[in-house]
Parts: sequence; structure tokens; C-alpha cells
Amino acid sequence: MMGPVVVVGGGLAGSAIALELQRRDVSTILIDRNRRPGGASALSFASLSALDEDDDVLYGLKRQGMAAWRRWQARSDEDLGLRWEGQTCWAEDPPEARRLDGIVERARRRGYAVVPIDAREVAGLQPWAAPQRALTACHAPGDGQVELLRALGAFRRAFARHGGVTVAGRARLRFGPSSVAVAVGDWELDAARVVVAAGNETAALLARFGWELPMDVPSGLLAVTGPVAPIVLGTVYVAPASGPPVRLRRMEDGRVMICEGLRERVGADPTSRHALRLLHQAQKAFPRLAGAAIERLVVERRPMPSEGLPLVGPLPGVEGVYITVIPAGVTSAPFVAELVAAEVADGTVAAQLEPLRPSRGLGAPSGSGTGLHGTAELFFG
Ligand SMILES: Cc1cc2nc3c(=O)[nH]c(=O)nc-3n(C[C@H](O)[C@H](O)[C@H](O)COP(=O)(O)OP(=O)(O)OC[C@H]3O[C@@H](n4cnc5c(N)ncnc54)[C@H](O)[C@@H]3O)c2cc1C
Repeated sequence: MMGPVVVVGGGLAGSAIALELQRRDVSTILIDRNRRPGGASALSFASLSALDEDDDVLYGLKRQGMAAWRRWQARSDEDLGLRWEGQTCWAEDPPEARRLDGIVERARRRGYAVVPIDAREVAGLQPWAAPQRALTACHAPGDGQVELLRALGAFRRAFARHGGVTVAGRARLRFGPSSVAVAVGDWELDAARVVVAAGNETAALLARFGWELPMDVPSGLLAVTGPVAPIVLGTVYVAPASGPPVRLRRMEDGRVMICEGLRERVGADPTSRHALRLLHQAQKAFPRLAGAAIERLVVERRPMPSEGLPLVGPLPGVEGVYITVIPAGVTSAPFVAELVAAEVADGTVAAQLEPLRPSRGLGAPSGSGTGLHGTAELFFG
């Protein structure tokens, strides 16, 4: 392969892909506009689970992603901040209890490691919890969580140790008839391939050239408390008898992260008032949280194509550009990175990525979709 591969975007997806390419001895340059990780990866709930995944393709990627995280930890010199302490869920509200039962039934049919448990077992697994009246409950022992800033730092350092080069700055792409140039400030180089892993900015990139990538970019709300004494083990989902269900986990610094719902889904109401409501729901289930206050409120957009599926693959009609947009990307990122690196480096075709090709979900307005073979210059981000 001539010239280096340039990866634009140093969130979890871009950092993992860059590291995997460099491990394969592909000379790689990673560009991120922030020196410190920004984007969705820096502001994620960062649980590792496929328990409630509806879509079969995403379910497969998440399952394989969880296995890949273990592989990546095994070969890493550093602690990636992974904890496999399982997930405990219970519901005190009848409709939520039925929903949870349905999720557990489907997960068990798929062979997922999850077992129904009773209230006594909830108390055993979560000694600081005070369930009011658990109508149904389950435990997924293989679910996990990751301290993303720790993992990202480790990926970046491993990338550098393998000879990768990281550049801080806003990337611009310039498309020629048969090549792509990438510029940051005054510096510019021709790239053999460009992998765009720019999260939400990817839609802006494509729109600039007439490709329409419908994105939901829903806001996710996370409330982070100050450090507290241990209150939860692993990840917990609780649907109290009334009000919104919450999900919580204790971070390694003792802070507790609270978000809405079982899945890392959109908070319908990304306001501080709603965050207080979520804290209150968590306090009902964990009385030890009573004195905790919200220290940080994060509202971050998720890179989510409208169809809810990732987009991964070559950009149609554009030589040398490969894009990745991955919702629920924390769980699946290391596995997707392995597949992407193999496709980019060796030209292999990963069957798991075939349903996710950009040609699937992109509507290119007539006449403009292939206009990239010109002298167009793109500034995005
Ligand atoms: C609140 C919330 C909770 C979530 N919870 C979970 C969860 O529990 N489990 C899970 O699996 N997933 C979860 N997700 C989703 C997950 O965080 C994302 O799918 C994942 O982080 C996406 O990573 P990424 O690298 O694709 O994008 P990002 O992390 O957004 O990275 C994109 C990077 O591109 C850079 N960039 C953009 N434009 C340019 C440019 N022009 N030049 C240079 N750099 C540029 C940005 O600086 C950024 O660093 C959650 C997301 C949110 C918001």
C-alpha cells in the first residue's frame, strides 16, 4: 500500500482502528481536533452489554465486541479500565416488568448469559439496594463497563509505541481525481486511504458533497454524582413503581453515573430538572445515595444513523475514503476496529460488515453524489 493511512477522529472508533492498523504494520496517522479525547466517547455511559439489543446485526457486533475487549485487555500492557461485574436489573412497574421479561426471554433464546433471579438474589448481588417490590429481576454476569478515558489513553500510547503518529488539529480533506489529500493547518499529505471516524461530524462531511446521511443525533443525558461510598456492584437497571427507569454504575473514582433506561438511549428530556428526577429514582433504589448531589450533567449527541445501524465501509464513488459511524460504539468498537483494519490493510471483505455498508443508507442527490472526483475541498468538524 502506497502512503500512510490517515484516520480522522480519535474517539474510541478512530483510536482503535488506528491502533489495529499500526499493529498490522500499516503506517498510520491519527488526527483529532482535540488534544484530549472529546466527542461521544469521552461522555459515554460506557457499559458493555448486548442484553437488550433488538437488531440481530448489532447484537452480533456487540457480542463479538465484548469478546474483543477481553482480547484487547489480554494483549495490552496497561489496564484498560474494564470491569466485568455483571448487570443486575429489576422492575417494580408492571409494564416495565413485562418488557424486562421479554428482553430476558429473547436473550436466553439467543444463548446470552442472563438468568432470572428473585428479590432475595437481588439483595445478595446488590447489598446496598432497597428494592420496593421487584416484580421481576435478572442478572447478566458477563456484562461489563469500561473507564473510557483510561482505555483511550492506553490505545493512544500503544499506537505511539507501535510507531503510529498522532496529529492534533482539525482535518480537511481534498479530493483529487484519484487521490485524497488530508490537511491540518499548513501541513498536507496524500493518503493511501482515509478512514473517517469523526462521529457526529461524519454527516456534515457527507452533506458537503451532496450525500445525505440521515442521522437522529439524539441527545443522551448523563448525571454524574460526586464520589460516594460503594453502592452498586456492576451496572444496575431499575424501573421503580413510577417514574422513569434508571441505569447506574459506580466509576473507579467513586462517582456514580446515572442515565435513563435500559439501553444507552435518548433521554427524552435533557434538562437539569430531569437529571434531578433520575437522581431521585436512583436514590429510591439505593438509599445510600441520599446525600449525593449531581456534580456534572452531560448532554451529548450520539452518532446514530436514523436506521439505528452503524455505517461502516468505503464511501461509494470515492476512491480511498472509508467511513465508520457506530452507535453503541463502546461495546462493539474493538471488534469493528479489527474488521475495518483488515478491510483497509488487506482488502478483505468482512461478512459481518456487509449489512452496514454506506451505500445502504445514503441518499445521494442526483448529479452530486459522485462529484467528489473533482477538486472539491472539504472543511469539516
Ligand atoms: C450519553 C451517551 C451514553 C452512551 N452510552 C453507551 C453505552 O453505555 N454503551 C455503548 O456501547 N455505547 C454508548 N454510547 C455510544 C458511544 O459512546 C458512541 O457510539 C461511541 O463513543 C462513538 O465513538 P466514535 O469514535 O465513533 O465517535 P466520537 O467519540 O464522537 O469521536 C469522534 C472524534 O472525531 C473528532 N473529530 C470530528 N471532526 C474532526 C475533524 N474535522 N478533524 C479532526 N478530528 C475530528 C472529534 O474530536 C472526536 O474525538 C453512548 C453515547 C452517549 C452520548
